[in-house]
Amino acid sequence: MFTLAFSKVGQLNCFYRTWNGVSNSVTHCLTRQIHSGTYDVAVIGGGIVGLAAARELILRHPALHFIILEKEKELACHQSGHNSGVIHSGIYYKPGSLKAKLCVRGAALTYNYCTQKGIPYKKCGKLIVAVEQEEIPRLKALYERGLENNVPDLKLIGATEIQKKEPYCRGLMAIDSPFTGIVDWRQVTLSYAKEFQELGGAVSTDFEVKDICMAPESPEGSIDGMKPPISIKSSKGEEVQAQYVLTCGGLYSDRLSQMSGCSPEPRIVPFRGDYLVLKPKKHYLVMGNIYPVPDPRFPFLGVHFTPRMDGSIWLGPNAILAFKREGYSMWDFSPKDFLNAVCFSGLHKLVIKNLMFGIAEIYRGAFIAAQVKQLQRYIPELTKDDIQRGPSGVRAQALDKDGNLVDDFVFDGGVGALGSRVLHVRNAPSPAATSSLAIAEVIADEVVGRFQL
Ligand SMILES: Cc1cc2nc3c(=O)[nH]c(=O)nc-3n(C[C@H](O)[C@H](O)[C@H](O)COP(=O)(O)OP(=O)(O)OC[C@H]3O[C@@H](n4cnc5c(N)ncnc54)[C@H](O)[C@@H]3O)c2cc1C
Repeated sequence: MFTLAFSKVGQLNCFYRTWNGVSNSVTHCLTRQIHSGTYDVAVIGGGIVGLAAARELILRHPALHFIILEKEKELACHQSGHNSGVIHSGIYYKPGSLKAKLCVRGAALTYNYCTQKGIPYKKCGKLIVAVEQEEIPRLKALYERGLENNVPDLKLIGATEIQKKEPYCRGLMAIDSPFTGIVDWRQVTLSYAKEFQELGGAVSTDFEVKDICMAPESPEGSIDGMKPPISIKSSKGEEVQAQYVLTCGGLYSDRLSQMSGCSPEPRIVPFRGDYLVLKPKKHYLVMGNIYPVPDPRFPFLGVHFTPRMDGSIWLGPNAILAFKREGYSMWDFSPKDFLNAVCFSGLHKLVIKNLMFGIAEIYRGAFIAAQVKQLQRYIPELTKDDIQRGPSGVRAQALDKDGNLVDDFVFDGGVGALGSRVLHVRNAPSPAATSSLAIAEVIADEVVGRFQL
């Protein structure tokens, strides 16, 4: 254990993050424009994973000095602020897998956390609905999986009970998961940040990390035998120094890893998910979350009906290869991101395995009528006039070179002297928002073990 001289420079900058024009005054976060200084641990990435990990670390090590470095002007700007807002219950994942354990534990921790902090959430439940006979064996297998994963209060229900819960939804059989809920994940992220700051942590926004390297040794030699710090440089030439670095870079986690000499794989391939929004006059059609029975041949859960904390109802998202990481419109294009994805053999293999799914997703993305047809399988009363195009999110999908989606944690270090003092979270098992508090425990264990804090 060690302590370092600690300096904070700069002005206080209070913000209220808005997405979709909806401002939220319940949780706000103070950020400091700190663009220099020396810390024990720097955490790069101000999304829910970085913030949850930083909070967990400062709770365990209150004597150390921590800083979060985030490239945007606000926290939770990307995946953590652009998602479905569902607190998943953990039904889908392979029993015994880390993903299953972290989701079930993460959901329970989230409910406790939100209750403690007064963050509004709704346990509005979810139905996974089979609309065709051929889906029923898969639905039953999924139910068994949920039981094995210890998801609380799961039930299989028939058509009459489906109608009682969701009067406008048709279905032959459904899994009823009352433990599933909704929350504003951005608000949860900002709450982690607020707690982190109250515990003495620093948050610096508008600091895009461009380089991670060893700082040159001071001519006087090391102080008290301490190692020379790591220098973290921003795209504007500012520098922060730290003894240890943790990166949680979401859509850029592979690029941040490469900064300390790690392999480009697993590669992050961005998948955009576009939502449709139900017009307010038709909100009565949906009570809680309604999901399809997932097709095991395809990687994503399928379009769903999701109520939001602000009272709106979103339909979707689909999953289409994005031409830009953090590109939220179909017209966003980055030559670097595009070439990086399309030249990657792992993506070629994924595309070949899921060709029909990919073509159908592009078609449905382009033509609302095609998506409505799919949604009408669950709510026949829905028409094209009831919906409009909504916002989008971009998923950071980690892919290996064989085209497999990476489901588990991928931690990486780096080469040479940096290797033992940098930890990259290249992939955290999704749904990483639901699992964030449980993921933070695993990351903190890894940090403490590797860095011997
Ligand atoms: C469409 C969609 C729907 C989803 N729905 C759900 C859901 O309903 N429930 C659920 O639990 N999960 C859901 N998820 C998953 C969940 O949102 C993500 O797993 C989670 O937010 C990932 O958090 P993160 O911190 O890893 O990434 P991010 O939130 O993307 O944060 C990474 C941060 O790192 C920063 N960064 C990157 N590079 C640099 C750099 N060089 N310097 C400084 N900062 C940098 C970025 O700006 C960003 O703020 C969904 C995701 C998507 C995309």
